[in-house]
Amino acid sequence: MSEPINSIYQVWIYTVQYLQDTYQFSETAIDMWIGCLSLKSIENGIVYLEVDTDFRKNIIEQQFGEKLRQSFSHVLGFEVTLNIVSTERRPVIDPVPRTDDSFGSNFFFHRNVETGDYTFENFIVGNSNHFAHAAAMAVATHPAGKYNPLFIYGGSGLGKTHLLYAICARIRENNPHANIVYTKCEEMTNDFIQAVRDQTIPEFQAAYRSADVLLVDDVQFLANRKGVQENFFHTFETLHSAGKQIVLTSDRPPREIETLSDRLRSRFEMGLTSDVQPPDFETRVAIIKHKAFLLHMHISDEVCEYIASNLKTNVRQLEGVVKTIHAQYMIGGNSPTLAMAQNAIRDMRALAQPTPVTIDLILSEVSRTFNVTTENICSKSRNQPIARARQVAMYVTRQITSLNLKEIGQKFGGFDHTTVMHALRKVDDLMMNDPSFKNLVNDIVKNLSENS
Ligand code: ADP
Ligand code: MG
Repeated sequence: MSEPINSIYQVWIYTVQYLQDTYQFSETAIDMWIGCLSLKSIENGIVYLEVDTDFRKNIIEQQFGEKLRQSFSHVLGFEVTLNIVSTERRPVIDPVPRTDDSFGSNFFFHRNVETGDYTFENFIVGNSNHFAHAAAMAVATHPAGKYNPLFIYGGSGLGKTHLLYAICARIRENNPHANIVYTKCEEMTNDFIQAVRDQTIPEFQAAYRSADVLLVDDVQFLANRKGVQENFFHTFETLHSAGKQIVLTSDRPPREIETLSDRLRSRFEMGLTSDVQPPDFETRVAIIKHKAFLLHMHISDEVCEYIASNLKTNVRQLEGVVKTIHAQYMIGGNSPTLAMAQNAIRDMRALAQPTPVTIDLILSEVSRTFNVTTENICSKSRNQPIARARQVAMYVTRQITSLNLKEIGQKFGGFDHTTVMHALRKVDDLMMNDPSFKNLVNDIVKNLSENS
């Protein structure tokens, strides 16, 4: 190959050319079978390709598989394995998150820390997470063994998604043909709603139930969603009884997911439940060093320890600071200094201030929960379900914004402050007397706080 390769597109062009020239396939054959493939990414020696039907995938694998693989290896200059995914089975989502960068010019030589680096090798183990890590490793090495399901929970930015991706990566390494289905719970919920609307529930179910390994991230979003819970319960049963591995994450343990049906809760708890805690000082230092290492940057002990002693609860923030410092390091070429760390931490703290939740978000969350339109919530209707939804919307607004009673009244269609006060009292009363109502309201507040 004489020209340098600097885009994924070029890899594809050269590979198809090589395939055709070397193995003497006809143009028609190439058009018909190779033309419908699309090259998605190349990560850790695995070439990810997509095709639109299972039928095509099978033919391509049988007729072209090894030759195509050799062509890629030839063009890239290293041995690869192929992973051809048929999109007919939504939602087989590639667990390696991609940013637009992955299609950028130096894609091959520069591993992006945010994407393909979510592996076990890059996961720093400390007291705070060693149990979850060991469980994840066990599941990845022996799927559907002792720990099924594996349920990992803990606060934001403590490595839950990282562990899920690491499990995916390891299982894929060991068994390239495993059908690994990774989904965020929110996406699964949206898919479900869409499937109900389009009357494609059988397809939706088939997509999930054909998994060899199913990983669902952030299952706390099942709270208050009865339809999905019901459906997911059956998916769970089908997979579990067929000896397929299930891995779940959540920001809280199963018993604290409000309005989770009892049977789902008991299923979630029947395997192994493990938490991840904020890392201790030593682990934080090790994480900072490792993140810097991935960026080819050296950070002195002094600077590392400064960062580690100032940021304690969230690894994502530690990583953000390392990245900010790295950006300056790239521009200035100076080794990271204490001042750089101080500035980066200050900026990060400023960014981390919660953005104000807008009334629109509150309205849409309440409207969905109570099945009342937002127009009705903002109307003067005294009709019971509508008035109740409005009271809750006012209550939630009071909880999570800094608006006063008068302002809240104005936002919801021009009520005076006594009406708002009455609404707040009413909701308080109801919450006191009705635990399920209380859970409902608390969940709305929680969902909104998390999404902001
Ligand atoms: P969560 O899903 O728990 O909110 P993530 O898995 O998205 O958190 O982790 C946030 C960031 O912190 C990721 O970039 C991840 O690589 C990093 N991270 C978290 N824990 C560790 C760890 N123990 N070792 C290395 N990186 C970690
Ligand atoms: Mg996560």
